[in-house]
Amino acid sequence: CGIVGYIGSKQAQDVLLHGLSKLEYRGYDSAGIAIFENGAVSVKKSVGRLANLVELVDGADRLSGSQGIGHTRWATHGRPSDNNAHPHQDDNGNFTIVHNGIIENYQSLREELIAKGHTFLSETDTEVVAHLLDDMWTGDLFDTVLAVSKRIHGAYALGIMAKQEPGKLIAVRKQSPLVIGLGEGENFIASDIPAILEYTRNVYILDDGDIAVLTADAVKLFDFDGNPKEKDVFEVTWS
Ligand code: GLU
Repeated sequence: CGIVGYIGSKQAQDVLLHGLSKLEYRGYDSAGIAIFENGAVSVKKSVGRLANLVELVDGADRLSGSQGIGHTRWATHGRPSDNNAHPHQDDNGNFTIVHNGIIENYQSLREELIAKGHTFLSETDTEVVAHLLDDMWTGDLFDTVLAVSKRIHGAYALGIMAKQEPGKLIAVRKQSPLVIGLGEGENFIASDIPAILEYTRNVYILDDGDIAVLTADAVKLFDFDGNPKEKDVFEVTWS
């Protein structure tokens, strides 16, 4: 029920866990984070309270890296469990995603992907998106996300990263809230402003049909056809 993403030079784990704690008010039954470092993505997730996740990544088990995505889940498809918690990945762990909302046509996509040899590890509607990214991979993450967005129906806010394109996060918004936080040498994704307010007051409030491509130094906005979009920076004045 909440998404956070970070790319910059801070320890991503700290930013993600802080952000998730600020999204707790939205309600959730499980939580997880994925951190990208040196070509490898580590995923930790746990059913239950955020404290359970914190315990998994505490002390010596800390995930190091300055790029990642995190999630608190409010289960709609598949019971609350460790396996059903986000982030989710494809078979090869190349694509890592978090999702809020519902992929309405997941059942037929899932059957199609299983027939092609994909193995699913969860009962969620979400997991099809990770496998679709792998199945439809064009060699370019942005193009692949555009193609996948045309195949999934329903409501979604997505945070996406790919091993093939380190240094990049993609956020997609269709009928689920999502904001982009603009920093100096760092940028953020969040379901809601409080998650990132400690770090920046400059945000883009995404509209339905917006896609944001984040690197540490820039955020570019597009529509679902891949056309560049302009948006005013919203300055948060409350605290
Ligand atoms: N439909 C997804 C699931 O059940 C996402 C739920 C959410 O928005 O947290 O895992």
